[in-house]
Amino acid sequence: MKGRKLAVYCGSSSGNLRCYSQETVALGTLMAKQGVTLVYGGARFGLMGALADSVLAGGGDVIGVIPESMMSSEVAHPSVERLEVVASMHERKARMMSLAHGLIALPGGYGTLEELFEALAWSQLCLHTKPVGLLNVNHYFDGLLRFLDRSVEEGFVSIQHRRLLLEARSPVELFNRLSESF
Ligand code: AMP
Repeated sequence: MKGRKLAVYCGSSSGNLRCYSQETVALGTLMAKQGVTLVYGGARFGLMGALADSVLAGGGDVIGVIPESMMSSEVAHPSVERLEVVASMHERKARMMSLAHGLIALPGGYGTLEELFEALAWSQLCLHTKPVGLLNVNHYFDGLLRFLDRSVEEGFVSIQHRRLLLEARSPVELFNRLSESF
């Protein structure tokens, strides 16, 4: 994994349970230790901020990609030196995807889900061939994964495309699954 860049999509909120921040920090620490660069949305708060803080604390590299409209001091992470300012949310997602070798989602809300499903939909269309992973902390995504299985049963998603999403319960397991796919 050394030298790779991973785009991580995650909540701009922290969630109500400590396990969400704890697993996010565990992922960031592992990324720094293994020499994997974080590419993320550049914000200072929520799981996004916790992730960037933990990569930086471990001596790792962070690239934030942030739309101009969010470049205010309340949003942008003050310690991320490489902040790329882009014109729009659309440009941000395209830039994050082009920078990264793999794309992963942690717990989050609409923004995270939208980014995850764009990564999957674009993979399905062969617009990229990067692995797409999901860190299912505290079974947060179980309902969503059941829904995806239902989409297969009902004939809307092929089994081959369902397998594009690499699920894991811990950062180490996620790294193992991603490295098999590079
Ligand atoms: P959410 O899951 O709705 O909290 O949205 C978080 C995800 O969407 C992140 O991966 C970001 O790329 C993007 N995003 C949404 N809202 C913000 C925000 N206020 N600041 C920075 N990024 C955001």
